[in-house]
Amino acid sequence: MICKKWLIVIACRVKKHLILKYLIMSGVRHNWTLSEIQAIYEQPLLQLVLESATVHNQNHKWGEVQISSLLSIKTGGCPEDCAYCPQAARYHTDVKVQALMDVEEVVSAAQKAKEGGASRFCMGAAWREVRNNRDFDRVIEMVKAVNGMDMEVCCTLGMISEQQAERLADAGLYAYNHNVDTSESHYKEIITTRTYDDRLQTLSNVRKAGISVCSGGIIGLGETNEDRMGMLLTLANLPAQPESVPINALVPVEGTPLGDNNRVPFDDLVRMVATARIVMPKSAVRLSAGRLELSVAEQALCFMAGANSIFAGDKLLTTPNPEYNQDMEMFRILGLTPKAAFADKVVMEQ
Ligand code: SF4
Repeated sequence: MICKKWLIVIACRVKKHLILKYLIMSGVRHNWTLSEIQAIYEQPLLQLVLESATVHNQNHKWGEVQISSLLSIKTGGCPEDCAYCPQAARYHTDVKVQALMDVEEVVSAAQKAKEGGASRFCMGAAWREVRNNRDFDRVIEMVKAVNGMDMEVCCTLGMISEQQAERLADAGLYAYNHNVDTSESHYKEIITTRTYDDRLQTLSNVRKAGISVCSGGIIGLGETNEDRMGMLLTLANLPAQPESVPINALVPVEGTPLGDNNRVPFDDLVRMVATARIVMPKSAVRLSAGRLELSVAEQALCFMAGANSIFAGDKLLTTPNPEYNQDMEMFRILGLTPKAAFADKVVMEQ
């Protein structure tokens, strides 16, 4: 085996990307540079997919895709100003405010999701942050109940403190989602009510509590390619890479500041998935919002590129998503198999 020091020396004489490929294959890196990630992203599309498919095949079971289910347990009325979100109270959208659901309703939704093949159940509440009140006590009960159903239980509740993360961990929470959304430099164009550092602090609190981290972002927010790479750079260079990385394409919603944005072309989504796969080889890359617009063939390219999770169910929080039957037909056509719960834990520990 050639040592990495020698590779760096040789890199001065031969093509840099060959060395990069060796380093990619040798494991997870936390010292990516923006230009390296850019060089990956900007390759000809099929070359990029070939490279990411190779990384995917080395680190994951080919053709296995996790079915996740996402339920909005408290909808709308959020005090934050995320420019893409129809749940922000300040924007005039069709979203109806709904108080926190009962534990029984959530358990029955989780049961239905499990019967439909979901191995991960995510609960989302439109809160700025978690407060230590009766609502949080109820979420803890939900986590305990779903945890007992042999599914990965995940929450996305806004910012949380270390103590709150510990309480969730004690209740059996498997994963916590908190997206960085975009690059640090584009972030202030999208959200002004909390900072990028606030986001990273929540991720750190989650990590300290021993909960697995789910964090990704959205493309189509008016960002540049450099912002997209900046987002991946932030995630890839965290002290421990997120176990789960959702890649969303904006679903523009009327009434939000980004309601008139154009949808992103499918090849941009493929590029994001592929680049995320290469720079975070062991993470689950989740093809999330925006999937409704993709044909089966376009989704197939995303799976080739390294996506290994989808959200099933006709709604993704408040925006439309493919019907369950359509997804099952896609699994049949492409020969995909649903990934069992906790399979990613094994991959990350390798
Ligand atoms: S994305 Fe979350 S925090 Fe932002 S406005 Fe929507 S519900 Fe609130």
